[in-house]
Order: sequence, then structure tokens, then C-alpha cells
Amino acid sequence: MRYSQILLPTLKENPAEAEVVSHRLMLRAGFMRKLTSGIYTYLPFGLAAIRKVERIVREEMNRAGAQELALPMVQPADLWIETGRYEKYGPELLRFKDRHNRESCLGPTHEEVITDLVRREIHSYRDLPVNLYQIQTKFRDEIRPRFGLMRGREFLMKDAYSFDVSDEMAEVSYRKMYEAYKRIFTRCGLEFRAVEADSGTIGGSFSHEFMVLAKTGEDTIVVCKNCDYAANMEKAAVRPPSAPAAVDMLEMTKVETPGKRKVEAVCEFLNIEPADLVKTLVYIADGLPVAVLVRGDRDVQEVKLKNLLGVADVALADDKQVFDTTGVPTGYLGPRGITIKIVADLEVAVMRNFVVGANEKNFHLKNVNMDRDFTVEAVADLRQITPDDPCPSCNGRLELTEGIEVGHVFKLGTKYSEAMQAVFQDSDGLEKPFVMGCYGIGITRVVAAAIEQNHDQNGIVFPVPLAPFQAIILNLDLKDAAISRAAEDLYQSLQDLGVETLLDDRDERPGSKFKDADLLGIPFRIMIGKRFSKDGVVEVRRRRDGFTEEVSIDHLPGILQARIAAEISG
Ligand code: ATP
Ligand code: MG
Repeated sequence: MRYSQILLPTLKENPAEAEVVSHRLMLRAGFMRKLTSGIYTYLPFGLAAIRKVERIVREEMNRAGAQELALPMVQPADLWIETGRYEKYGPELLRFKDRHNRESCLGPTHEEVITDLVRREIHSYRDLPVNLYQIQTKFRDEIRPRFGLMRGREFLMKDAYSFDVSDEMAEVSYRKMYEAYKRIFTRCGLEFRAVEADSGTIGGSFSHEFMVLAKTGEDTIVVCKNCDYAANMEKAAVRPPSAPAAVDMLEMTKVETPGKRKVEAVCEFLNIEPADLVKTLVYIADGLPVAVLVRGDRDVQEVKLKNLLGVADVALADDKQVFDTTGVPTGYLGPRGITIKIVADLEVAVMRNFVVGANEKNFHLKNVNMDRDFTVEAVADLRQITPDDPCPSCNGRLELTEGIEVGHVFKLGTKYSEAMQAVFQDSDGLEKPFVMGCYGIGITRVVAAAIEQNHDQNGIVFPVPLAPFQAIILNLDLKDAAISRAAEDLYQSLQDLGVETLLDDRDERPGSKFKDADLLGIPFRIMIGKRFSKDGVVEVRRRRDGFTEEVSIDHLPGILQARIAAEISG
């Protein structure tokens, strides 16, 4: 492609609307333009990067035995009513009526549509397993679309759905997708981790999220420095604490703590550490109050709490709710003598002689011990893991890092097939619901994540496999006929060898050509200027590390072709 002809509007300044690097650079590099909140037009340069990701995804899905199809974007509400999601999905599902007053929605995901297809078309175990996928525009009316392609309302997703005869076979399909995802993100040239994710309250299911490691990630993940353990904070299981210290239980006493409501204030006043205190936090779980006990320096992990209680929603109670449900002002609440349900973190069970609220304004209790002084309904892992905890898998050192979720594999079980009566006849003659899995990749988010992970102060640094162009030729003197002819010839030979090349044939100063080339992040920049006129050599500069060398123009195409091939695994 010739730079003089491509629609590639670069910007010199950082657009004010963009908060994160990838968003800024995508706007500056003429990648895309915003139409309206969370909705973007992909310009040729951006689309080329998107197509690169699509191609890798498609090749690996096909290799794993999945078949591509295309499902409609407009979906009838009836299907969503069958699974109960028309009510449950919330306002992210954009609903509308057509001219015949039929309720419809724009697909945020396609479980209903694919299950409907399969229940109509597949009837026998002989036709299973089957895995069907598409790469298509999704619409989710996100409450806060932001960060450009990272969280759009309209975005591209690859979604695949597997159908199997049994749980065991569904796990085989799941494994295949898991391996395909590893290949996909490796081929994209990205640093990533597959983490165990919370799979909510759907019974019998499990899932992994694929995270691209980048500082601006919205999710915190915990990874082991020693083994390959990695998990979402919501899922990271804390190792059960060792047995209680061999310390005698002391006599419980009530102490005055005037005006001391916060953990730090109580600790300072009583000259103890937060680890010597147990917090009593009231949560409202699906409308009912529950008191949660954790050590003073710990945080409750709400997803773990939700899963323990088997509820859809938990929220920390405000002062009024605390008072209304316990009769105690916030700050002085304790487990002794309250009537609401109490659950405790594992750690509380092995603590000795700790401090809790006395359920009376301005008072706390010292030397309190669980089971002797109060009882709870359940003891479970309810707290957030910390970097000081040992690895749940190997006892090694943990580390917290930020990640961007680019993919998600999910074993669904029979949730959708049962709700929609999608059944097949098994080899034993019995009718059974399909056992399903679903597998998503945010194609457009992958490109954003790649830029978050690969950039410098001058612009994008595309991993070679995702670069819209692999090489850019800078003609540094348009007026010099020999240089211009050499640039044209080189452009031709590179293309003949399959090197995707942009020829900067604009009538611009060299300085601004260098700037644009850096901004665009094209892996190899070839400069044809004075050195060519003198000695027939051109300069080749690698975007990633600035490594520059002089190469004879005749040898360049072959050398470059080999370098690029080495960076693209097939
Ligand atoms: P998130 O927690 O980030 O909202 P999700 O759990 O809703 O993601 P899935 O339903 O699993 O996402 O969708 C599959 C993939 O689609 C995600 O892993 C992500 O890469 C991508 N994705 C989801 N929502 C968006 C969005 N609003 N914009 C861009 N990509 C998205
Ligand atoms: Mg979401």
C-alpha cells in the first residue's frame, strides 16, 4: 500500500478523550475513529491489525476441529425468555421491537441462538461432538464504555460453542479449546496467563480466563513465581491456616474504647495489631443480612461470600442497615449475642484471644475465642488472597499482577440445553441434554491489549504477527529520481516475496516520516536516502529495540523475508 493513497490520518497530539495508552495510540495512529459512545469505525490500518488476529484465531479454531458459521445479530426475545435470561441479563442487552411489535434484541452472546440451531439439526450421538464458532460483531450496552476498543459497546468477538454426549467428553472439548487458546495468544506474540476464573453459581461448571499481562489491566490476578499457578482474585483459594497456636484461652473482658470505631483506632487505643482483632461486617445477601468475620487486616472477597451463601448478590450494609438489622451502631459490632446469621473466615477459627466489638457503643471485648464465646453457621475461605500468602498449589511465593481478559473458556454443562429442551438420542437409546461449553475471544480487545503490552513513548510497537504492515519503506528524497526508482523497485520485490509493505511516498520532511513510522509501530523501517545514492545501501531499523543496520538493497528482500518468517509461527 502507498502511504499517499491510504486513509491513515495520524494525530500529533494526544486526544483528550483517551485515558489509556492503547486508546490514545489507536486514535493517533489513524486506527479508528469514534462514531458515538463505545462505537468505533475501524479505518484501513486498524482493520488490518484486527484481520491479523481474526486469521490466527480462525486457523487455530479450524485446526482444533471447530467449524465456522455465522449467526444472526438480531435475535428474537422468545429464545431468551426460554432460558430466563431475557429478565436476568439486565440493561446490557439492547432490546427493541420490530414493526410487527415483536420483541427482539441485539446479540451480546449467542448461547440461545446456537442451542436453538443444534436442537433442530442434531438428534443423534453419532453426530457428536460438534463445535461451532463465528467471528462477529457483538453488542453490549455497557454501563461505562471506555478505553476505546477495550470496553466498547459494539465489538468483535469470536464465540465458539461445543456440544457433547457427556460430561467427560465435554471436558475433552474444553481441553482442546484451552490448548487452542494457548496457541492463539502465543502466535499473537503476547505475554499471557490462563487463570482459573470464578464461574459463578452455575453448578458443575468451571472456567479459565486468558489474561494479557499489562499494567493497565482492569483485573488483578495472582500468579505463582514458582509454579504455573495463576488465578483470579475471586477464585484464588487461600491455603487453610495451620492449627491454632498452643495458647491458653484467657478470660473474656469488656473494655471501654470511647469513639474508636475503625480498626486502626481500636488497635492504637488498645495497643494491639490488626491481626489481633476480628472485624464483623454486615452484608446484605439477596435482601437478608449476614455477619461476616475476618481478621482485622483482611478483606472480604465478595464473590467467595456469594458462592458460599448461594446468592445472586451481596453488598456491604450501610450504617443504617447495620443498625436496623443488629441494633448496634457501626464500629462496635461483634459476633457475641447478635441474632443474624454469622459466617467466619477460616483464619478466625484458629485465632486466639482476639478483640471484637461488644455490641454496645464505645465498648469492645478482649480475649474472645470462637466456639467458646460465640458460634457461627459456617467457616469458609472468605477473604481476599494477599501476596504474603503461600501459593495454594505449591506453597511458593505469590505475586499480584494486572491483566486484561482477552478470552474466556467456560464449561457450561446442561444449563442451556435443559432450559431449551435441546436433546439427542444417546447410544443407549435414551434422550439426553447436550453437554455444552462456550469459548469467547474479544478480537478487538486483543488488539488493544497487544498495544497496552507493546508500546513506547514514540508509539505502538506491534508484535510482528499482528502488525498491519510488516515493513515500511521511507523514500527520503522524492526529488531524487534514482532514490524514487529504487524505493519503487524495493516495494515491488518485497511484495513479490509476500512481505506486507507500506511505501511512504508522501512529500513530507524525513523527520515527520520517522515520527509517523514510529507511531504506527511497523516492525521494520527501511530508509532509502543519501547512503543509497553513495553506496547502494539502505538502512533497516527494527522498531522494537531501535537496532539499525545497513544492508545492500539487493540483499534486503531476502533478509527481511527470513526475519519476518522467524517471528511468525504457523
Ligand atoms: P468483562 O468481564 O471484561 O466484561 P465478560 O466476562 O463480560 O468480560 P465474556 O462474556 O466472557 O466477557 O466475553 C468473551 C470475551 O469478549 C471477553 O473475554 C473479552 O475479551 C471480550 N469482551 C467482553 N466484553 C467486551 C467489551 N465490552 N468490549 C470489548 N471486548 C469485550
Ligand atoms: Mg462483561
